[in-house]
Amino acid sequence: MKNKEYLDALEYFIDKMLAIPDTINIDVSDHLSRICDVLRISRMTVTIYDNYRLSDPDHRRTVVIYDKPPCDESCCIVRRNVTAAENAAVYSAWQRAGEDEWDEDEISSITRVLDLMFLFNGRSKLIKDAEKLIFFDHDMDIRNHKFYMRFIGQLCAQNKIGDYAAIFANLRRFSVINQQIGRENGNKVMQIFINKLKELMSDEELIARIGGDNFALIVRKGNLKRILNILEGTAITIDETYGERIMLSATAGVYVVPDNDSSISPSIIMDRISLASHIARASGKTDPVFFNQEIMNASQRVTSITADFPAAIAKKEFKVYYQPKVSLEGYTIAGAEALCRWIHNGRIITPDVFISVLERSMDICRLDFYMLGEVCSHIRKWLDAGLEPVRISVNLSRRHLSDIDLTKHILSIIDSYDVPHELIEIELTETTTDIELFNLKRIITELQKAGLYVSVDDFGIGYSSLNLIKEIPWNVLKLDKSLIPDLKNDPDNQNQMLFKYVIAMAQAMGLECIAEGVETPEQVAMLREYSCKLAQGYIFDKPLPKEEFEQRLSGHAYSI
Ligand code: C2E
Ligand code: CA
Ligand code: CA
Repeated sequence: MKNKEYLDALEYFIDKMLAIPDTINIDVSDHLSRICDVLRISRMTVTIYDNYRLSDPDHRRTVVIYDKPPCDESCCIVRRNVTAAENAAVYSAWQRAGEDEWDEDEISSITRVLDLMFLFNGRSKLIKDAEKLIFFDHDMDIRNHKFYMRFIGQLCAQNKIGDYAAIFANLRRFSVINQQIGRENGNKVMQIFINKLKELMSDEELIARIGGDNFALIVRKGNLKRILNILEGTAITIDETYGERIMLSATAGVYVVPDNDSSISPSIIMDRISLASHIARASGKTDPVFFNQEIMNASQRVTSITADFPAAIAKKEFKVYYQPKVSLEGYTIAGAEALCRWIHNGRIITPDVFISVLERSMDICRLDFYMLGEVCSHIRKWLDAGLEPVRISVNLSRRHLSDIDLTKHILSIIDSYDVPHELIEIELTETTTDIELFNLKRIITELQKAGLYVSVDDFGIGYSSLNLIKEIPWNVLKLDKSLIPDLKNDPDNQNQMLFKYVIAMAQAMGLECIAEGVETPEQVAMLREYSCKLAQGYIFDKPLPKEEFEQRLSGHAYSI
């Protein structure tokens, strides 16, 4: 044996073994060929003895890891070891037939190689265990988020990602299903659903659990339709005996990865499918949503609004516009609603562009408090200038409802400008959940005690009912624009009857009633007929900049 040859062969062997994560399932004979050649080894085996039962053939498993006949059956080196699972592992090497016996150097080198084999196998078991911990979901027989990212990362690196479509799937109503059939059965149902998808997928595709009832898939473009079919709804048998079946479906956000785009990365893919999935979920439908340019633009808008917001509020780019509320008795100004406008880079941005974005975080609360502060500072100036101010209403997002010190925060702002409480009205929309209802009741009671007015905004859309209104001590009911009858296209007067009834009920409950979005003289006439005393809408004024609104305060009379 030449030393240089041996060392080269040893290095080659170690390099090869280190490069593979798993020596158990892989054929290592190629890796061993050079070192076995140099050391004149003909065959190598590993025998695992279950629980050290060395004499029991039923508890013994031998794997031949290298075999190149002819072999001298009588000349063998054996190394015995103990595995991590406390089994005996015996590594054996046989000499090539018809050659001189191994010398001392060769024997010690062979012993070293056998020990190395044991080490590599032990290491691979460790890697396997670690992989299981790192890359598998702990509850389901399925890969996890980390593995998904690694898997699509490999597809990107191999320039194969253009053949694929990625999906973010969220099981629909799964918490309800869990409540109905129990958590354990819920898990079973989830596993069956996963298996149905797996059946349609090859080894080059993947489904992984992202957490909870969220899954990420990567499938070949040609397979996408079949997978989406399952996601759109599949019957699953929960009880074989009674044949009880439930329908399980998932909303899907899909990104069909373009061919030949080298800028695509796993995190871009993940962002795009989760965005599309959010939209799919919000739509409430089962149709999959495909990521496209429009979604990309909307998402960039969200990013830039969120990024620009802190500087914008510091630079006071948000301005208060005032829309007058008009008394239908004398057509005089009776109050106003403060509405936000963002003056950004020379353009006026309306709230429909940024409010919903700010509502994704607590930014909206900062904006609302800022608006309240601006309104109070204006009222203070009007009072000091001897103008007779009217009650100004300020919109508060439902996001504030979780703030247990909300009333304290509101009052500290108003009081810092020394503004009489009765000049401020807080507009809040109704809530649907019990917990919000509970908070809402507490907050409104507190605000009223402090002498502020509180109004139900947008009454008539969503879930509002007069019954719910009764539960909370509001002062003002703001009838949404959509509730106002379309006088031209309502021949049987049904909506008019409903509208009249709502106004009468509100007044019977002692609530002030104001109609929003009033645009025509006919609507004004109808409101007067039904004894609605207040209106707000384009027929009188659009939301006005502060300076214009101040002119309205000095005794302006409206006419229609
Ligand atoms: P909202 O509270 O229902 O405000 C009334 C909206 O109706 C305003 O839209 C107003 O300009 C519009 N409007 C008034 N009269 C008419 C009319 O005759 N016809 C029509 N078609 N529309 C009319 P704006 O100012 O674009 O505000 C939209 C929404 O943004 C507001 O709806 C409110 O929910 C929200 N918002 C505005 N400012 C703030 C704010 O400072 N904080 C919070 N949280 N939300 C705000
Ligand atoms: Ca409002
Ligand atoms: Ca409204």
